[in-house]
Amino acid sequence: MSTNSSTGMTVYTLGTGGGPIVSSSRAGTSTAICVEGATYVIDCGMGSIRNYREHSNWGQLRGIFLTHHHSDHIYDLGSYLVTGWQVPGESFSSPIQVFGPGRPERIPALDHVHAAEIDARLGNRAMTSTTEIVDALLDRVFASDIAIRMADEARGEPHDWVLAHDISIPAGAGAHPVTNRHPEMEPFEVYRDELVRITAILVDHRLCFPAFAYRVDSAYGSVVISGDTAYSENCISLARGADLLLHEVIDLPSILATFPEGPTRDGIEVHLRESHTPFETVGKVAENAGVKTLVLHHIVPNTPGTADLAAMEKAARRDFSGPVHIASDNDSFHIGGAKTPGTGYFATIAESMEARA
Ligand SMILES: [Zn+2]
Repeated sequence: MSTNSSTGMTVYTLGTGGGPIVSSSRAGTSTAICVEGATYVIDCGMGSIRNYREHSNWGQLRGIFLTHHHSDHIYDLGSYLVTGWQVPGESFSSPIQVFGPGRPERIPALDHVHAAEIDARLGNRAMTSTTEIVDALLDRVFASDIAIRMADEARGEPHDWVLAHDISIPAGAGAHPVTNRHPEMEPFEVYRDELVRITAILVDHRLCFPAFAYRVDSAYGSVVISGDTAYSENCISLARGADLLLHEVIDLPSILATFPEGPTRDGIEVHLRESHTPFETVGKVAENAGVKTLVLHHIVPNTPGTADLAAMEKAARRDFSGPVHIASDNDSFHIGGAKTPGTGYFATIAESMEARA
């Protein structure tokens, strides 16, 4: 295990596979962004916590930002929260912040007819918010472990170390889980400290609403994580001029080849096309956003040898004029050169916001 440097900004791909399956070659989607020794994690896919500890320790973790509540993006959340609280000698050094979607006002649906069908079929089943998920982990799922360790080992109250927040979507965006899941909108601020400013925007992940992309700006540069999304003008707007865009990607022909022909496969194809970004179009996102470098992650299918990575890279290079990387777990990307003396963080943010306009 090594810890990340106390200087500069480095992005580590902790997990590069997408989808709720176990892969021997890729952990589930997760990215660490390290700025001057502080670490911010976007999503907590399955197995990513092992790779987190390759690059950072618990004392460096400041925040976890969830793009959406699909299981493959939150499987390891409880591991992060409880392990960081309970490792003697290297626990959280200050309370960590967890940001993610709030509970939508109703279960999302394609339209009002679909909404009525869903209500009839799902009955009393409801969705949850990020704060409810964190509370459930600390007060239900790991309640016995936490109570025993507090009683037996004199541990402190975990809620004092984990502060969860539901992200409020600006009302002016007019977002709605049935009628307007992906409104055109401006990026909005979610978090800020002395090292980074983190902004978000709604992306288009079909019925998974709300789903966010995040942008992290620091004095060294900027990185955007698309979250799960179909081709999204909002994602392009958020990524405008960024140093690094980590975008999700799927190899649709390879996924469909695993299903027999028929209506089920046709339905899955529609779902995948409307929820995700096929590799044929991901280069256009990066080109239209004018980012410096494109990194493809959230690779689906993600079992070894199933996705055609060469075709993926070729298609992205056809449409994007900058460098393209197909990420593997534990890749690292250093952003920017030296911090410019005298300009500092806010000047850089202002420049990047101007570049985005
Ligand atoms: Zn998803």
